[in-house]
Amino acid sequence: MLAGTETRHGRTVRWAFTARPGGQSVAPYASANVATHVGDDPSVVRANRTALEAAFDAGPIAWMGPVHGVEAQVLTAPTAIVPNVDAIATTQVRLPLATLAADCVPLLLTAGDLVVAAHVGWRGLADGMTSSLTRLLGERGIDPASALVLLGPAICGACYGIPRERAEQIATACPEAIVQATSGDPGADIRRGLAHEWRARGAEVRLVGPCTAESPEHFSHRRDGVTGRQAGVIAWID
Ligand SMILES: [Zn+2]
Repeated sequence: MLAGTETRHGRTVRWAFTARPGGQSVAPYASANVATHVGDDPSVVRANRTALEAAFDAGPIAWMGPVHGVEAQVLTAPTAIVPNVDAIATTQVRLPLATLAADCVPLLLTAGDLVVAAHVGWRGLADGMTSSLTRLLGERGIDPASALVLLGPAICGACYGIPRERAEQIATACPEAIVQATSGDPGADIRRGLAHEWRARGAEVRLVGPCTAESPEHFSHRRDGVTGRQAGVIAWID
């Protein structure tokens, strides 16, 4: 697990990106799978989630059910499951927000009085997740230039070859995300694209963790097909 704390406006934000080791799931989900929608034993996933909650130590985690959209939902009270949304946010203390991924980008953000967790794949990038989150900040009078954006373990462009038509679709929104893949095809580097978009808004961006497809310590859907998901988690501590 890669984890840290940040001090923002005299308050503390805790964040973490999980990895494969240390859980109870067996192959092909071994071992710390925290996703319920991938075919793993639900009771084992529950145990893995409980262990993560204990380790993160900030209260019950709110889990989203991503649909590759760009909508964001603000939570005002603890909620176990937030279905059909790819970004959740809160101002509440000790209300940890989790995003799931296995090649897509787990994005954690803090700005003003908000913490945000989001799931961003090529579709979310192309459809404007960055604009959606910028709008969320703007509605609350928060300057995106004040944001800290943590982009967790995700597949790199060299490993993520895509068809040319899809590359063109992504490039229309974010040309910086298109690179050359080792397969010879165009490659989509979603993390690179997001980093560019947030830096262009003046935000501080950190890339945290390796390429998932190159890391045996991480779940990679592209590499393994049926597999688990890792999480990004963020919360206000005080
Ligand atoms: Zn890679």
